[in-house]
Amino acid sequence: MGFLQRLINKARVKSPYVFHFNSGSCNGCDIEIIAALMPRLDLERFGVKLVGSPRHADIMLCTGPVTEQIKPRLQKIYEQMAEPKFVVAVGSCACSGGVFRGGYNVLGGVDQAIPVTAYVPGCPPKPSAITYGAYKLLEVLSEQLGVSEIKEAEKAPEEAAEV
Ligand code: SF4
Repeated sequence: MGFLQRLINKARVKSPYVFHFNSGSCNGCDIEIIAALMPRLDLERFGVKLVGSPRHADIMLCTGPVTEQIKPRLQKIYEQMAEPKFVVAVGSCACSGGVFRGGYNVLGGVDQAIPVTAYVPGCPPKPSAITYGAYKLLEVLSEQLGVSEIKEAEKAPEEAAEV
């Protein structure tokens, strides 16, 4: 791997841009994502930045179940993201359909429409669980892309996952 590619990989892991998409959630999970970005848990300490366009994003945070109506839109948004791209299903609905599973127009979780890299279960998941999920995803990406480990100071405290 060349120097430039190593530099790009490091930048990608140290400063992931995140796009948030709601495919039909009750907004409970969306509020928890906002809470994870607030100063108490401060997802930004990992370099995570919320962006308004899928074209600028490395990671898509998806909330809510996938319906017949939203599936093609979700797939179109996914196609607009540049490679390499990753999807995190946040909440039980995004993981499996949750309380909406079995509805006449509900297909299930986000993985019924696009590939999912990580799942954060819960209804809704706690902000600390979302932070922990994001941290774990970055840890896996670091290994896959050959980037040195996330600094000790940046690590999510173990107790954060239990709050
Ligand atoms: S997992 Fe719970 S909080 Fe999240 S969208 Fe579904 S019903 Fe709402």
